[in-house]
Amino acid sequence: MNIVLFGPPGAGKGTQAKTLVAERGWVQLSTGDMLRAAIAAGSDLGKRVKDIMDRGDLVSDAIVIELIEERLPEAEAAGGAIFDGFPRTVAQAEALDQLLAGRGTQIDKVVRLVVDQAELVSRMEKRAAEEGRSDDTVEAFKNRLDTYNAQTAPLIPYYQAQDKLADLDGMGGIKDVAARINAALDA
Ligand code: AMP
Repeated sequence: MNIVLFGPPGAGKGTQAKTLVAERGWVQLSTGDMLRAAIAAGSDLGKRVKDIMDRGDLVSDAIVIELIEERLPEAEAAGGAIFDGFPRTVAQAEALDQLLAGRGTQIDKVVRLVVDQAELVSRMEKRAAEEGRSDDTVEAFKNRLDTYNAQTAPLIPYYQAQDKLADLDGMGGIKDVAARINAALDA
């Protein structure tokens, strides 16, 4: 099964992806994690994306599409991919549909975690204290939310038109949200 975990920054996509990896043995494909790994490794790619990420802007579609393409065989072998933080633009969603179609597969479901803005900010502040991510600052986070609304929210009608979107309440505890996701996937 191929699923997209969708929602604004702080909605809990990464946390819930990890729960699904543990429970179902699928592979989490987080472009944010891949990019942070490139920065940590000091690679050319890392150097190119660091400032963009620190500002809370999006890196180019071509970069993230290539990162995802490289990991598709591994996810296929595991029997499932959890796309986390990808796609973030309509162009990325179209490229993903094409890549998967070329491999005889497709996105099965898009799970959208709906969380109100005050909760998003409070989760970001908690994560800033715990993980020290350089884009978890008030200014960068505001830009990430604006970027989500401008460039990523248009994916909601895109996936609605494909009849794949499931809107879930992303408020509350991690286990409660995980139970809602499992129910949506098994429906
Ligand atoms: P995330 O960990 O998903 O919140 O992503 C952190 C940052 O990495 C984002 O604010 C972007 O700068 C960059 N990024 C991650 N995924 C993508 C994507 N699919 N398209 C463009 N930029 C991305």
